[in-house]
Amino acid sequence: MIDIQTFMLALGIGNISFALLMVAYIRDTEPSPGLRIWTWARLIAGATQLMAFARPQLGVPVLVLLEPVGWIAGLALEVAAYCTFFGFRNWQRIVYPLAGLALLVACTAPLAGASYSELMLLISFLFALCAISTAYVLLHPALKNPSLLQRIIGVNDAVFGLAIVVWAAGAVERGQLDLFELGATQFTAYISGYALMIVNGFGFLLMCKQRNDAAMKRLASTDDLTGLLNRREFLARADAARMLALRQRQPIALLMLDIDHFKQLNDRFGHATGDEALLLFARTTDGILREHDILGRMGGEEFALALPGTDLAGAMQAAERLRQATMEIRLLTCGNHYTMTVSIGLVVIESNEDLPAALARADRGLYAAKRNGRNRIEEGGAVRRAA
Ligand code: GH3
Ligand code: MG
Ligand code: MG
Repeated sequence: MIDIQTFMLALGIGNISFALLMVAYIRDTEPSPGLRIWTWARLIAGATQLMAFARPQLGVPVLVLLEPVGWIAGLALEVAAYCTFFGFRNWQRIVYPLAGLALLVACTAPLAGASYSELMLLISFLFALCAISTAYVLLHPALKNPSLLQRIIGVNDAVFGLAIVVWAAGAVERGQLDLFELGATQFTAYISGYALMIVNGFGFLLMCKQRNDAAMKRLASTDDLTGLLNRREFLARADAARMLALRQRQPIALLMLDIDHFKQLNDRFGHATGDEALLLFARTTDGILREHDILGRMGGEEFALALPGTDLAGAMQAAERLRQATMEIRLLTCGNHYTMTVSIGLVVIESNEDLPAALARADRGLYAAKRNGRNRIEEGGAVRRAA
């Protein structure tokens, strides 16, 4: 069996270790939202647990008051960290007053003659409230598609919160307020409390990592200016779509698009107007496409488009829609007078053709469109076969 002091020592060392590592991590890194608050929560919780461990030996009376303050501050900050991480607005309006109220009760209770056990009973209910609040934040319906990690932590918090309520309520009902008597119930509570520290500790850090990884992936695969796929990501997705189409014996069309006389636009109206034109062109094109069409910016004013399940006639129709829509784009920064046009080369990828070869053919179509006067669509011609 584990006594309360050994338990407090173990929790305290765990939380302080988490917090110290985080302090070192934050020093050299831009932390995720909520991570600083979370670090404070762990630091305060850990210090409080070490205080609870040392208090009986030290016998310093002020610690009896300081301890509940530490518990409440640590718990409130933990909830605050989750709220900040998930971008919940106005959480301060709920968490701070509740924490203030809890602090008031916890500080006045000993003065009103409450015993340490009674105080700890109150803290247990607050613990449960915080765990259930954290579960509520993690499993909130407004957070669409919660990750598996998020659900595990949320369910763990909810179960722990409810277990604490049952445990503490049982103690009240029996009139036996000493929560820390050794026994099977206490043992279970300690074990689940320890698991909570580990699950919530690593869980929060893993959620931060998951979010950073997703942001890095987005950065590495999208074009800054237009938000479209960048060249590398387009090539990867288009090739995957090509292989899928091949397996399903479906056609797949490939289009290369290049805005006409773009250099003139930049020269006449400036680079910022050029950027606006690129952004509007990207939005317009993206708005016309179907969900599974793949659009990317290949560089400069050149874009590529893969249309799975589309044959030559369908691709011609789509290209014509894009050509017309481009002419309707109006650039605000040059007084709405400037009209843009686009030249398009297109091919349907052959079954024995790889993506670079198909792109080269589409490029040939594009240059034919430029040669033949621009603002037009040309097919890329037949696959060249070795003689
Ligand atoms: P063509 O009709 O033959 O396609 O002529 P063009 O002027 O459109 O083509 P060219 O390749 O001569 O010029 C492309 C220009 O696009 C030159 C370059 O400065 C500009 N450009 C490339 N990337 C960007 C960008 O991100 N923003 C802006 N504003 N301009 C860009
Ligand atoms: Mg151009
Ligand atoms: Mg170009």
